Parts: sequence; structure tokens; C-alpha cells
Amino acid sequence: MSRVVYVNGRWRPHRDATVHVEDRGYQFADGVYEVCEVRGGRLVDERRHTERLLRSLAALRIPLPLPIPALSVVLHEAVRRNRLTDGILYLQVTRGVARRDHGFPPAGTRPSLVVSARRIDPVQTERTAQAGIAVITLPETRWARVDIKSISLLPNVLAKQAAREQGAREAWFVDRDGYVTEGASSNAWIVTGAGAVVTRPLGPDILPGITREVVKDALRAETLTLDERPFTVAEALGAKEAFVTAASQIVMPVVRIDGQPIGTGIPGPVAAALRRIFHHHAEFS
Ligand code: PMP
Repeated sequence: MSRVVYVNGRWRPHRDATVHVEDRGYQFADGVYEVCEVRGGRLVDERRHTERLLRSLAALRIPLPLPIPALSVVLHEAVRRNRLTDGILYLQVTRGVARRDHGFPPAGTRPSLVVSARRIDPVQTERTAQAGIAVITLPETRWARVDIKSISLLPNVLAKQAAREQGAREAWFVDRDGYVTEGASSNAWIVTGAGAVVTRPLGPDILPGITREVVKDALRAETLTLDERPFTVAEALGAKEAFVTAASQIVMPVVRIDGQPIGTGIPGPVAAALRRIFHHHAEFS
């Protein structure tokens, strides 16, 4: 089954799915993106991903390339045309193609829209979740508006590579005061000795994760205590459990931070339960 990608109004074979060299995404990282989970052939939390996309676009003053209902059709078409059962949709909007100039292009420049689909092996992901992942910590080096889901991801790229080179799967950024902001591609959580689930509150210094929101709903339903406050690396090292959340991984247990085991060194019960019940709280479309 060959993959097809939506590029500015056309469905193209994956190998031919190209954008112009003067696309502002390519030249300035002048764009935003979304990653949405596909499960059982349905989109997970499309409404929330669309709302976040609108917020990111508005923050950067990039026009919406298609009306929302048409965008929704494209997303579902991407699933259908790629016969995707389990995986992710990737959507990217840039400020469009124009002669290279830092300031905005002329009014009327059409934003570029790309939508691709990729299969993820659920068995492999489950195996990873059973084992848990290792995380490293690094100083925060990103810009001051990471609540915007911008495609400008160099610090995240370097952090992920550093993690990989140290045998870890994720890197947690740490602010100047020693508090964890979030992962290079996930939100960061711990469970304290007293059983409170802790994650950093929303602000310009973290991405408002969709998975994070759904996990909050799940915590409420399970009457688990949520404490939205920053936590330090030291507190994480002494925590009972740690985990990360992202659309592509749902709830992924963290069993080592900077080489030190967390809790008993195996995935904890809170993370496992949240992973198990997550989709009861998600929306499918
Ligand atoms: N933070 C960052 C930096 C991310 O890249 C992601 C993944 N897109 C997240 C958090 C988690 O967001 P979501 O739950 O919406 O995937």
C-alpha cells in the first residue's frame, strides 16, 4: 500500500510530495504543526487539536488555509487513503511561498498545508510502555513562546539527539531555577510519595498538550490528586513515578532520569492506569 500525502490541495505519492524551496517553512521555520493520534482508523481528539492549531495560527498571524470542515475532510481522507488503522497524522501549515524576505509576504499569499499519515506499530509502543523509558535533563534553550506549536524545533532536535546518544528516549528541559519545563516532544509528570500527580501549569514555557488535558480529565474521574505546579529535577529523582504524555505515545512511563532509577525502577501503577483508561476520556471522530 503506497502512502499518499496531501500537499496544497493535491494528493501526491509520498516520494513526490514536495513543497517549493521558497516555502517559508523551509526558509524561516515560519509555520505551525499538529500531530494527532489515529486509533482503530479514527482520529483521537480532533476537536482539541484543531482548536490548538487555530490558536497557534492566530498567534503567528497565519491565515487558516482551509475552512475547518474542509480541513476535517482532508484529515479523514488522509486516514482513508492511507488505510491507516493505528498511527499518527502530521499536519503542517506555513505562511506560504514567497520571495525570501523576513517580513510577512504580500497579503493574499496562500498558506501552505501538508497532511501526512504514518503507521505506528501498537505492539512495539506497548512493549516500550511495559519497559518504560529513560530520560535525560538539559538546560532550557528554547524561545519564550513554546506554547505556540511552531515547526521551529532546533533545540528539541538537539535535545532528542543528546538523549539518544545517552541511551535515553526523551530529554526534559530544565529552566534557570531548576524546574522541569517539559520534554523535547512531550509534557513531563511525576507522582509524589504522597500520591499526588504533578505537572507544570500552562504558560508560555510549555506546550498545552492535548494528551495532558485528557489525562487531567482522567485524573479527575479517578479522583486522583492533581497538583499543577513546577517540580525540580531533584524532586523528580525522588518521586514514586514519572511519565510523559504526547499524542504519539499517550502515557509513557519514565523509569530512569539521568541514569538514576525512579521509584522501583519499573513503570508505576498510576502511569499504567492512566495509559489503560486514557481512551475512555478521549474523543473519537
Ligand atoms: N510538548 C512538546 C514540546 C511537544 O512537542 C509535544 C508533542 N507534540 C507535547 C508537549 C505533547 O503534546 P500533545 O499531547 O498534544 O501531543
